[in-house]
Parts: sequence; structure tokens; C-alpha cells
Amino acid sequence: MKTTLKNKRFKNKAMKSLFILPAILLLSFSYGSCQQHTEASGEKNPYYSRTDTKPLHVSNAEWKKILPPELYATARESVTQRAFTGKYWNTNPKGTYYCAVCGNLLFRSDAKFASTCGWPSFFESARKNSVIYKADNSYNMERTEVICARCGSHLGHIFDDGPPPTHKRFCMNSISLDFVPDGMAVNK
Ligand SMILES: [Zn+2]
Repeated sequence: MKTTLKNKRFKNKAMKSLFILPAILLLSFSYGSCQQHTEASGEKNPYYSRTDTKPLHVSNAEWKKILPPELYATARESVTQRAFTGKYWNTNPKGTYYCAVCGNLLFRSDAKFASTCGWPSFFESARKNSVIYKADNSYNMERTEVICARCGSHLGHIFDDGPPPTHKRFCMNSISLDFVPDGMAVNK
């Protein structure tokens, strides 16, 4: 009788570990994949890609579900960030700037210059077709809006008071940019 009870206990123990082991494996696997996801700034954003250049046609209703509210306001409703705020207005490490909404290649740090305007400023885009331009007459001003050519998001404005060789000033919102320092792998 005693032996049977012992056997039963042993069996129960064995059964328990049979369940626990896969559970542990599953947990560590999902933890691993979570970590991979948090590395990507395009977390929960299925449209974000630094390698895919196909134009996107995504509604604002859809973007609103995906983007953080501050990024949505600037990118989709053209709300300008306050001057002298944001991550990149007075920094210039070597690297590349991508669209924070869709991952499109926008600017190289070589084209960034110290501007007194309080927003990150560049004298040229990384590729001619990285951005598109649109007349903007809001606030009784005649300005040219700069839009991401892949996702159509508002990035900032362009002015004719930049340094040589182009004499252009791409006046951008920091929040619209995703910076990747040189030497970091671009794998998405
Ligand atoms: Zn974009």
C-alpha cells in the first residue's frame, strides 16, 4: 500500500515536471522575442521598414492606432514641435536619419548643420526622392512643406537660407526622425 502511494506521488511529480519544463521553455522563448521587438522603434508598427521603399497608403485612422500621440500630431496633423525642444536640434553624431513613421531613409548626418533656428537642420536629403515638397500657405505664410515620400507624413519645411553647396535648409521636427548611429546594423 505504502509503495503504491509512493509510486503515485512519484508519478505526480514526474507529470508536474513534464508540464513545467515546456512552460519554462515557452516563457523564455517569448521573453526573447519581446526583447527583439523592443529593440525596434517600429514596435507594433507593421509598416515600418528601413529597407522597403514601396510607397504606403495608410489612412490616418489606421496611423492613429499605431503611432504615439505626439508623433501622430506632428506627422499626420502637421503640428510643429516647439523650437529648442526635441532630441536632435543641437546634436550631430555620425549616422543616418530615417522617417519615424515608416523607416524611409531621409538624411545623413554629413548634411546636418548647426542652425540657430532651434530645429534639426539639413542642407540636403539622403536621396533626391526621399522627400516630396508641397506648397503650404497656412498661418498667412508662404512656405514649402517637406513630406516623407514613402508614407506622406509631415516632416517640416524647407527654406532658401541654408549653407553651401545647396543653400537650402530642411527645417525638421525631431520627433519625425529616427536616428541610427553609424555602425549599427540596419536589419529591418
Ligand atoms: Zn515616412
